[in-house]
Amino acid sequence: MKLYRILQSQGFGSRKGCMARVRAGAVAVNGAVCDDPEAEIDTTGLELTLDGAVWAYREKAYLMMHKPAGYECSHHPSHHPGVFSLLPAPLLQRGVQCVGRLDQDTTGLLLFSDDGQFIHRMIAPRKRIAKVYRARCAEPVTDAMLEALRAGVQLNDEPAPIAALACERLDAITLRLTLAEGKYHQVKRMIAAAGSRVEALHREAMGAFALPVDLAPGAWRWLEAADLQRLE
Ligand code: URA
Repeated sequence: MKLYRILQSQGFGSRKGCMARVRAGAVAVNGAVCDDPEAEIDTTGLELTLDGAVWAYREKAYLMMHKPAGYECSHHPSHHPGVFSLLPAPLLQRGVQCVGRLDQDTTGLLLFSDDGQFIHRMIAPRKRIAKVYRARCAEPVTDAMLEALRAGVQLNDEPAPIAALACERLDAITLRLTLAEGKYHQVKRMIAAAGSRVEALHREAMGAFALPVDLAPGAWRWLEAADLQRLE
């Protein structure tokens, strides 16, 4: 693929802008400056250096973030900054989207991608991808609450009760809840229907992906091929 097209595909700007950056000698290909925007480059294992940062070529982008509290999952946030402000510009430029949403005050695992099929696979209701949440409740977690969540609770706009795939008490006021659906405010509404209130909510995992303990709030990392193969 021509070098300027590779740069465009990775989110480094317009055709004109990418060509100008290459001509100015600002782009290295596998460590060596290349000033010909039309140069044909093999993308296999390709590393680009721009503005001192090294980027591995990725046909599609897949990443995970430890979403901090106080960020909205929106390109046009209304009351808080958006999670997209925590990502570097080329990722925004290439159009990565959130894979499902978390509430502004929810923390934890949030996936992003520019691969529409992957996003669909992860959020389509019939795929029933498991989402694991840790919820701190306002009241002590009772056996009756756990039983209600396992048996199914009625949410006001749903035709039938919704049950957790799994539900366990972690301490007096904290439970871990695994859900197959991704309905609006689902954890908060289910816990309210079971007689309590969520005071803090954190997503630990989604499908095959778990939030790594060493990923700090606000930080993100690429999902690598090995992570993605676990989906197949
Ligand atoms: N359920 C909620 O209530 N909020 C979230 O952010 C995610 C699931």
